[in-house]
Amino acid sequence: MTATVKLLIAGKFVESAASEWREVRNPATQEVLARVPMCPAAEIDQAVAAAKAAFPAWRATSIAERSRVFMRLQALIREHMEMLASTLTHEQGKTLADARGDVFRGLEVVEHACSVGSLQMGEFAENVAGGVDTYAIRQPLGVCAGITPFNFPAMIPLWMFPMACVTGNTFVLKPSEQDPMTPMILAELAQRAGLPPGVLNVVHGGAEAVNAICDHPDIKAISFVGSVGVGTHVYRRGSENGKRVQAMLGAKNHGVFLPDANKEQSLNALVGAAFGAAGQRCMAISVAVLVGQAREWTADIVAKAKTLKLNAGHEPGTDIGPLINGQALARVEQLIGQGVEEGAKLELDGRKPQVAGYPQGNFVGPTIFSGVKPAMHIYREEVFGPVLCLVEVDTLAEAIAFVNANPYGNGTALFTQSGAAARTFQHDIDVGQVGINVPIPVPVPFFSFTGSRASKLGDLGPYGKEVVRFYTQTKTVTARWFDDEAVAGAVNTTIAL
Ligand code: NAD
Repeated sequence: MTATVKLLIAGKFVESAASEWREVRNPATQEVLARVPMCPAAEIDQAVAAAKAAFPAWRATSIAERSRVFMRLQALIREHMEMLASTLTHEQGKTLADARGDVFRGLEVVEHACSVGSLQMGEFAENVAGGVDTYAIRQPLGVCAGITPFNFPAMIPLWMFPMACVTGNTFVLKPSEQDPMTPMILAELAQRAGLPPGVLNVVHGGAEAVNAICDHPDIKAISFVGSVGVGTHVYRRGSENGKRVQAMLGAKNHGVFLPDANKEQSLNALVGAAFGAAGQRCMAISVAVLVGQAREWTADIVAKAKTLKLNAGHEPGTDIGPLINGQALARVEQLIGQGVEEGAKLELDGRKPQVAGYPQGNFVGPTIFSGVKPAMHIYREEVFGPVLCLVEVDTLAEAIAFVNANPYGNGTALFTQSGAAARTFQHDIDVGQVGINVPIPVPVPFFSFTGSRASKLGDLGPYGKEVVRFYTQTKTVTARWFDDEAVAGAVNTTIAL
């Protein structure tokens, strides 16, 4: 009997009554690990009702008490790191080292959530008029929801529910149906950490579950991370229903390489960022812009890419694991074929690799195209596979113009030893997250993830200070206290302060 993935409702792990179920498969072997329900709207309703019922008491719980739950959660995540990473590798495919990184980057958000005492502080101005003070308090919204993608099944749920709950909200999480087992372990650890029943609830499913979240009148805010198409739908539908929505979307990230860069370091960074996690990162570098003499680095990039070892994620020494599923594999192979048809030069072809012991795995090896033009599909689309496009330009100014002409604005990186070039780049580049000799510049949680343009809808980012604003409503209070003796008998007829 294959295990079923449970729902978490009102503190209990319960079996779904869904009529439709999907299989969760190990992408390296196709072994069925579990069955996950496609929850109907009625089950979303149950989860929201539990979250709504838990809200008044949780909202009234002291900041210190809320914060302590997350102190315990961070300790439990550390304690269970290997189990989390191993489950993640089996259901998602990435290497164990990457899986640990996935958990760790989420753990950092849990650590940050513990400082909610200072993060959620309001503001106070004394004497805005004679004897009158104004202060602002940040209050939780109520029931919030999170919809997460398959590529970071630990980090992205941890971007959401710890910050939402620590600020006093209750939460309904809808993880990706492709790898729901890791988020369920996190949910279980959160219960063990002392999160009261109903504060965190978990449902599963696809379009029906997501639409029910977008439509539910008791959900006040939705955090979404995933593709442009689905995110745009969620943003629109959720907003139309009066909710706050933040949506972190797809990307096409460029690395810009100046000839004065430290070549060895820069090319190592490039192949890691282009092919690591099989290119299934929203911050993967999928385009390398080679400037001036750096055009001559193509052969070295290809040579480095060839050294990467393709294998199942749990095998020691693996650099690149499989893609998430058969459709993703077929799509990536099709896009590579289209790149060839459209005239790009295939410098390295990763299609149909032989991976000993894993003939059923969804593998594509590192693939590199040179001579890529903006009109080609391999450039226009987010491939979300280990495919790198090389583009050549003469100057830094041309490189900046090229990057800025792309609609996406998630991340970019410049490789150089010139401070002046770096200063020009960081100032002129129209991308939300910039690395200077750092290939994947995802900020630590004291900042926020700050993708921009077509990579994001909504103004506030996930985690960090921005998400405290997202998950809270600012209320301002303007107060005057009368000194009974001083004002006895006085009548104030003015309305304005
Ligand atoms: P996806 O959009 O297919 O799925 C995201 C969520 O939406 C999942 O929970 C899924 O169940 C749900 N969903 C899928 N189809 C739906 C539909 N038709 N209607 C309603 N809901 C639906 O994304 P994915 O393939 O899981 O993840 C990869 C994408 O996520 C890439 O585009 C990647 O760039 C993006 N991503 C972005 C960030 C970021 O921070 N910007 C981070 C990680 C991933």
